[in-house]
Amino acid sequence: MENLYKPQLAKIANIEELSPTVKIFTLKLAKKFKKNKDGLYFIPGQFVMAGDFGYGESTFGLASSPYDADIKICVRAVGNVTKQLHHKNKGDTITVRGPYGNGFPIQKMSKKSVIMAAGGVGIPPIVSLVEYLIKNRKKYDEVHLLYGAVAPKDLLFKKEYPRWQKSEIDLCLTIDKPSTDWQGEIGFVSGLCKKIEVDPRDTIVAVCGPGPMMKSMEETIHPLGIADENIYVSDERRLKCGIGKCQHCTCGNKYLCLQGPVFPYSEIKENWD
Ligand SMILES: Cc1cc2nc3c(=O)[nH]c(=O)nc-3n(C[C@H](O)[C@H](O)[C@H](O)COP(=O)(O)OP(=O)(O)OC[C@H]3O[C@@H](n4cnc5c(N)ncnc54)[C@H](O)[C@@H]3O)c2cc1C
Repeated sequence: MENLYKPQLAKIANIEELSPTVKIFTLKLAKKFKKNKDGLYFIPGQFVMAGDFGYGESTFGLASSPYDADIKICVRAVGNVTKQLHHKNKGDTITVRGPYGNGFPIQKMSKKSVIMAAGGVGIPPIVSLVEYLIKNRKKYDEVHLLYGAVAPKDLLFKKEYPRWQKSEIDLCLTIDKPSTDWQGEIGFVSGLCKKIEVDPRDTIVAVCGPGPMMKSMEETIHPLGIADENIYVSDERRLKCGIGKCQHCTCGNKYLCLQGPVFPYSEIKENWD
């Protein structure tokens, strides 16, 4: 019988240190993920369970192009598993299970404008979506990426910004409070919504970030006139098994790991916390 919990090994091909607490790991999987009919190794917004023997596993949104066989995860060191992953070196192996979950509605976004909004370390799954949209840029109308962090040093994936902008991604950045090394926008991501004009009937929103950011996004997206069913949120509440067995991630009558982590806001707003 197949053991659903059995992970595969992944070799760390590269480690990029983005800040003292955040690292990006490029992973070469012993067994590549199976491509879907669209030639994607996963759908942007899907996640993996990654870990180390003896320490356990944690959940990470895939942060690389879905067209690449090697995957990237962006790990913020907060506790047992994530700190252990930060001790790993290039050439070491870690464990990976997945990809799991549903991902963002990339087909529904076709021929529409897309607003992506991310806060802090919520950006990894959005990065994957950005890479997908760039590869298929002609299929989409306007593409806006609103991204905010506490301070300039906390803005992740900086190296990629020039390439994204050259690929017609309208990148709007903000930081929470004034800083001597920052000339850009100040305030929360939600405030950036006021700077963009889109046809609300033809716009899909993808959001990922901390709870309070989600709430304030909702308050600012509604004035733009975008319906709740066109606002997709990636819910990053704690989950354990990733495969709908342990029931740690229930959200109302849904399992985040099976039916999520991406939900139309209309479906989960009653159970948001
Ligand atoms: C769908 C999904 C995608 C995610 N993507 C990423 C990602 O790309 N990069 C990343 O760094 N993290 C991501 N996370 C969060 C990550 O899974 C947790 O930070 C991680 O499980 C912590 O594991 P740990 O053993 O290091 O910490 P623990 O020792 O288990 O906990 C350390 C502290 O963090 C808190 N904590 C743990 N998990 C969460 C959580 N999910 N939400 C809020 N607080 C938590 C604990 O309560 C505790 O206070 C994602 C979570 C989900 C559900």
